Amino acid sequence: MDDTHRAEFRELLAQHRESVLRARQRSDEDLSDLASARSAATADDEHDPEGATLSDEWSRLAGLDAEAERELIAIDEAFARLDNDTYGVCAGCGKRIPVARLRIRPTATMCVECASRR
Ligand SMILES: [Zn+2]
Repeated sequence: MDDTHRAEFRELLAQHRESVLRARQRSDEDLSDLASARSAATADDEHDPEGATLSDEWSRLAGLDAEAERELIAIDEAFARLDNDTYGVCAGCGKRIPVARLRIRPTATMCVECASRR
């Protein structure tokens, strides 16, 4: 991978990280809002029909949060690969991952063929 592409993907990964961080911030805020809503609901009436809805919402937000964490790790790993010059090399077959795929998924570790074989 040449320097122009490396710079492009650094930029893409940095933007991606920003948006994941923003999304995580939002779900964190929603989780703490929900935590207060939930304790208020429990205080009012533990048989509140809203209780179930709140737990569903809680699972959904916690899922989003975990997903953001995983994505941030994937982004850090992609930066590390840029540093040690293995970025864009398929972890499955060792061939180059097409630049077009990396533009869509800058954290991709495998070419489409290997990824679809999983
Ligand atoms: Zn491959």
